[in-house]
Amino acid sequence: MIKIASRMDRLGTESAFEILAKAQALAATGKSIVNLCIGQPDFPPPAHVIEAGQRAIAEGHHGYSAAPGILPLREAISADLHRRFDVAIDPSNITVTPGSKVALFFALQMLGEIGSEIIYPNPAYPGYESIIAFSGATPVAYPLSEATGFSFDADDVLSRITPKTRAIILNSPANPTSGILDRGELDRLVKGLEQHPNIAVVSDEIYSRIIYDGHAHFSLLSYESLRDRLILLDGWSKSFSMTGWRLGYAVWPKALVEHAVKLAINCHSCVNNATQFAGIAALEGPQDTVQAMVTAWSERRNIIVKGLRELPGVRCTMPAGAFYAFPNISGTGFSSANLQSRLLNEEGVALLSGTSFGSLGEGYIRLSYATSTEQIEEALHRINRFLVDNMETRRAAAVA
Ligand code: PLP
Repeated sequence: MIKIASRMDRLGTESAFEILAKAQALAATGKSIVNLCIGQPDFPPPAHVIEAGQRAIAEGHHGYSAAPGILPLREAISADLHRRFDVAIDPSNITVTPGSKVALFFALQMLGEIGSEIIYPNPAYPGYESIIAFSGATPVAYPLSEATGFSFDADDVLSRITPKTRAIILNSPANPTSGILDRGELDRLVKGLEQHPNIAVVSDEIYSRIIYDGHAHFSLLSYESLRDRLILLDGWSKSFSMTGWRLGYAVWPKALVEHAVKLAINCHSCVNNATQFAGIAALEGPQDTVQAMVTAWSERRNIIVKGLRELPGVRCTMPAGAFYAFPNISGTGFSSANLQSRLLNEEGVALLSGTSFGSLGEGYIRLSYATSTEQIEEALHRINRFLVDNMETRRAAAVA
């Protein structure tokens, strides 16, 4: 019998991929499926980006490239950060990775080890808890609650710091809640962290361009005082609809860059060469396609939230960014996991239980509205039919 390393037991998974596979299997049997489970834009990448990738292949960019990413791409990222947030970031502090998830993995492997702790949000992107645990560190959750629009309480986060704390993870706009972190709370957190100069901050800003209602994204890069311990994560997957191109990046404090490069050399060598040229075109070219996507999602957000609010037993906060609705379904009487599986099996609606994002996701489900208005309306119709039928049956059973 092959012996598998015990650390593998600490690694979790992402339910989105599992539910997607189940939904696809059901669709293959002829069942009509409405898919709102995967966090993936439903638009193609901008045409000039695709052309830049094709041109790079035609021009012969087939070989290995620099492990941290080609310099013109890291310069383009630096210029983009300057344009967006008025910050000066040296390209030598940036590494490009096959998706921002890889940079997250590297950051947590660098910082976490057995006997240490890393603080992270709950509910949140499932990779955080899983990768923290894989590093050997103990995951210490801080709650994001509906009552504060899924922001956080700085005092609460600071109160979880112990001598073992190595890092705090922040994510804004957030998956799955679509909340954005409150600027005042961030200021208070950063002030409180002055007492803890050895704690790193990992800021996952992958949804930074997808923000609604005139909010502007506030990057943690704006805190000069954090620069020597801030790891910023961003990428092309969501903003430029390039999930399958696998392109992301991190801005590292000087002291961590060599470790990030060493991990890259040991792991993936370098990012797909042609993809990096597409990445430059995305950052430097016209941004109207990105704007058009955000406008379309904003309209769909209004439709889905209105529809969800009309469902029996459901209430829903208005997403401030990203493209997920995260309604509270506790009034339906169903647990999140039960609702997820019954909606998939009985109504063909693929969505995710809030508990896929941590224990505090109980009472919630996540629906991605990066899909067509028709699909959203069909999903709402089917969920309503399911809830009305089942809640009436239950009420009748309770009365009897
Ligand atoms: N961080 C968050 C919050 C996400 O939602 C995702 C993807 O769903 C990622 C990171 C990973 O993105 P990628 O590796 O495609 O850049």
